[in-house]
Amino acid sequence: MDADAFLTASYARIRASAAVPAGTYAPTLPSASALATARSALPAASEEEEEAHLQGIGAEATLAHLTETVAPALEGHNRGGRYFGFVTGSALPVAEAADNLVSAFDNSVQVHLPDQSIATEVEDAALRLLLRLLDLGTGWRGRTFTTGATASNILGLACGREAVVGARLPPQVRERGGGGVGELGILAACAAAGVREVQVLTSMGHSSLSKAASVVGLGRHAVKELPHNGAEPWRLDLHAVERELQRRDIASIIAVSAGEVNTGRFATSGAEDLRRLRGLADKYGAWIHVDGAFGIFARALPATDEFARLRESAAGLELADSITVDGHKLLNVPYDTGIFFTRESTTLHAVFQNPNAVYLSAPGASPIPSPLNIGLENSRRFRALPVYAVLISEGRAGVAAMLARMVRLARGIAAAIASDRELKDEYELLPAATPGSEEEGEDTHVVVLFRARDEGLNEALVRNIQGSGEWYVSGTKWDGRPACRIAVASWRVNVEEDLEFVTRSLVKVAKDWRASVR
Ligand SMILES: *Cc1c(COP(=O)(O)O)cnc(C)c1O
Repeated sequence: MDADAFLTASYARIRASAAVPAGTYAPTLPSASALATARSALPAASEEEEEAHLQGIGAEATLAHLTETVAPALEGHNRGGRYFGFVTGSALPVAEAADNLVSAFDNSVQVHLPDQSIATEVEDAALRLLLRLLDLGTGWRGRTFTTGATASNILGLACGREAVVGARLPPQVRERGGGGVGELGILAACAAAGVREVQVLTSMGHSSLSKAASVVGLGRHAVKELPHNGAEPWRLDLHAVERELQRRDIASIIAVSAGEVNTGRFATSGAEDLRRLRGLADKYGAWIHVDGAFGIFARALPATDEFARLRESAAGLELADSITVDGHKLLNVPYDTGIFFTRESTTLHAVFQNPNAVYLSAPGASPIPSPLNIGLENSRRFRALPVYAVLISEGRAGVAAMLARMVRLARGIAAAIASDRELKDEYELLPAATPGSEEEGEDTHVVVLFRARDEGLNEALVRNIQGSGEWYVSGTKWDGRPACRIAVASWRVNVEEDLEFVTRSLVKVAKDWRASVR
């Protein structure tokens, strides 16, 4: 077989399998029959069927199987702009193209080898461009690509743990063998430092924060919710933070939710909050980690009045010690791409140094570290390339315009639910307006949270929307009751058409339900 000819043809066939015929809509979910067909083509859990699948059918037949049987059973968030589940993003065409190039060359970006590949320099360029785009300032010497925000949160807590425990170690321990947590382990380091507990202080921290706390040995119990009040649980209570920081023999990592995944709201309300947090962290030896998976992109919105409130909410985040950013969400690059920034690369080295493998060491001193010494993986994908491609292709203005479209659609939907005659009788926008807040709607970023007023419709709402196949939302809970989230995150969003579609669909869902229970 001619490998090049096969691949050229296969890319075209793959695109054809994902394309949406003109004049039709992109299904958000596969049909039940497509799922059943694909499932029945997989080997059952038996020796006979598994061996049969290992007979080897060849590349041509495999490609046909993938494009004709597997592809129709995949969900459609990269095929249209009306998949509003979770916060997914889709993939900009240039990003998808770059990702194909990544596979075509299949470089493993683990050691900085400037005479052999430009890959590590592209990674570093992409990270520097992203720092500029997000206006985070200079001095983020610790920076790397990860597999997503969860991995970046693991890096954040690992770096925080290293720093807050390390700072309390007696000098003689630190000097002897240069030991911090990375060398001594969390138990020995905490014992030597007189630390009883490392706690993670947050407000509506993403679920992955608890996972990260487990992975780095702090434990899920270490994550403490410090909500400002019942009406704004996403906001961090800075007084409570100070009280927690004062506890003896307990070291703390402050995890700022920027933004919160149900509401898109920010734990801090601007630069002044971050200055206060920074002061507290410095005084008590705490670490500030920002989980900005999608929220941090508020900083890249156009600098106009329309987005001033959001940009203000995300202001000051550059005062943190570490930051999580997701690429595969609002930046619209393919999975799996996350980014992690921290002040010093030495903190990353302390945790992730891959020691004693001479064959993996880079020659000479370079300002670009080998990725294997600053992150979880050794062998790793060149996932920086799609990010680099998006940044140079769209530029600052193009990214801002893409993000603005997402926010405008989310705000349009929120406004329709709150004030459209046909909608406001049936649905309730959440969270309930904060008393005294004048800027209705200006806090809406890319997530719209709402519920149906009727209990029965509310119970069925998410299922009925998903069942239409035309659009997709996720369910969640708010105040202990079911609620529905619309997260706008695709470059494909068309503000006017999609707003019209969502409004019409919400009216229809309510009408159909009323007809069905009458
Ligand atoms: C999505 C998300 C995560 C988890 O990100 P993955 O990329 O799915 O690992 C973490 N934090 C926040 C705020 C998120 O929105």
